[in-house]
Amino acid sequence: MDPDVTVSEDLHGNGLWIVESGGRHTRKMKKTDPRKLADRLLHQLEARPPPLALLADLCSTIFEAPAWPGSEDSGRKEGVWMDTRMANFQCRQCGRCCRELNFRHQLPETDYQRWIQSGRNDILEWVAVHRRGENIISFSIWVVPGTLSFATECPWLRKTDIDGPWRCDIHDIKPEICREYPGTRKHARMTGCSAFQTNKHL
Ligand code: SF4
Repeated sequence: MDPDVTVSEDLHGNGLWIVESGGRHTRKMKKTDPRKLADRLLHQLEARPPPLALLADLCSTIFEAPAWPGSEDSGRKEGVWMDTRMANFQCRQCGRCCRELNFRHQLPETDYQRWIQSGRNDILEWVAVHRRGENIISFSIWVVPGTLSFATECPWLRKTDIDGPWRCDIHDIKPEICREYPGTRKHARMTGCSAFQTNKHL
């Protein structure tokens, strides 16, 4: 934050107050919620990127994982590298992420285009495409074909027998959000993934 900005917690615990200079003699006080604060911090990081070493420290604190400044093998692109602590991840196919997490508005256009190129109309039937004028602005999954209603559960999730693991019928071509979950060990813990639950280091 700028040096003339003060952030304090709301006494009732439902937000934060930001006080900043609004001119020569005035100080403006604004209430903000975590999402607005995150937007503001991202904007600030983009406008005035801090040194990579400081960003690495921040990433390390936020993601509870080792992070360090570095560059690609080619040496051209510099950035922050992080050990996501996912090396020992092994999905238990408990199906919890598929049944309980809300990922319905997070389909990137790359998945949509991949399904078009693969002729997967069976999947595309369950995708709602949101447009503004001619332009596609976002997608929603899994919307019951011919309706505007979300399916009560993922239509591709199956159990072969009652005590067996859950399986995904479109595993090889499933959405990126499913393929990439969980992104880090902390992400797994915060969202209830059972893959590491017996690990005493979690
Ligand atoms: S919650 Fe974790 S262990 Fe369970 S199916 Fe999802 S990724 Fe696998």
